[in-house]
Amino acid sequence: MSKDARNEDLDLTPEQKEKFDELVALLAGSGFGESGPPLETTFSQIEQFGHRAGRMVGRAIDRLLAEQHAAHFKGEQPCPTCDEMHPPNEQPHTLPLQTLDGEVPLPEPAFTCSPCRRAFFPSASRAED
Ligand SMILES: [Zn+2]
Repeated sequence: MSKDARNEDLDLTPEQKEKFDELVALLAGSGFGESGPPLETTFSQIEQFGHRAGRMVGRAIDRLLAEQHAAHFKGEQPCPTCDEMHPPNEQPHTLPLQTLDGEVPLPEPAFTCSPCRRAFFPSASRAED
């Protein structure tokens, strides 16, 4: 019997598992209250709520990791045309990325090379995979 890849849980430490269980209880409670779903609730309603909550968590994780990853581009970066180093622009470019779980704003640190009259986005290849 092959294992369904959708059932592959993350390896969490006992402390992380405890916090995860707290988050699950918090999200479940936001949908159905402290005492859980009422008697007439169908499993389909439960499943739809769980999926919606999962997409929300997925988008939040994508967003956090993308922001952390963008921080790698805080220093000067070489222009792809002339190799001259340039500091990032004050405002990053934000790309609305459509993910499996909905739209996630992907921060793209932006750079400008005046001699080459071009903008460049060294982190942009992240969105191409
Ligand atoms: Zn250049």
